[in-house]
Amino acid sequence: MQSHPNTVFINQKKFKVLLRESEIKQLVSNIAERINEDYFGKKPLFLIVLKGSMFFASDLLRKIELECEIDTVSAKSYGNYMKSTGEVNLMISKLDVTGKDIIILEDIVDTGYTLNKLIEKLKFLNPASIAIATLLSKPAMRKINIDLKYIGLEIPPFFVIGYGLDFSEFGRNLPAIYSHEEE
Ligand code: 5GP
Repeated sequence: MQSHPNTVFINQKKFKVLLRESEIKQLVSNIAERINEDYFGKKPLFLIVLKGSMFFASDLLRKIELECEIDTVSAKSYGNYMKSTGEVNLMISKLDVTGKDIIILEDIVDTGYTLNKLIEKLKFLNPASIAIATLLSKPAMRKINIDLKYIGLEIPPFFVIGYGLDFSEFGRNLPAIYSHEEE
């Protein structure tokens, strides 16, 4: 039995539950199953986009049955606002990706700027392939077309928090995903 409050308040803003723990678990399992099949016989490198993807990555990776590597990259585009700033800071330090099959693990794709920038930078390092697995996608917000190989769920253009996603750094620890709909 799981029980979540139907609404939470973070920084005085009200958020309503959008996806419960059991629903998230199912979405994550579906993605893991597909990756296990598609990459059978390969040794992919999972690249976790911090900080938002850490819960998704941690649950997904424990369902991956492949021999694989894990690395992280830090991205920040929302700052303290509920809208993408369009400016993306990416900290790719000493990634060793040459000749590797990369699977980027992202929490949510909004405008697409973050992933576009990350992919551009990764291509310079000559990986064998690059694929994206994202838990959530907001197609209505897209500014740049990005090929998302694995999508957990497409959602309306709401601002969401929980399960790693923050509102000004708060709300990441919520086990369910909550949305803020403008009134
Ligand atoms: P994009 O570059 O596609 O506009 O945004 C990608 C990043 O912005 C995500 O990795 C995430 O960190 C942040 N982001 C996008 N939409 C949301 C949202 O609804 N809630 C939260 N908390 N972060 C979001």
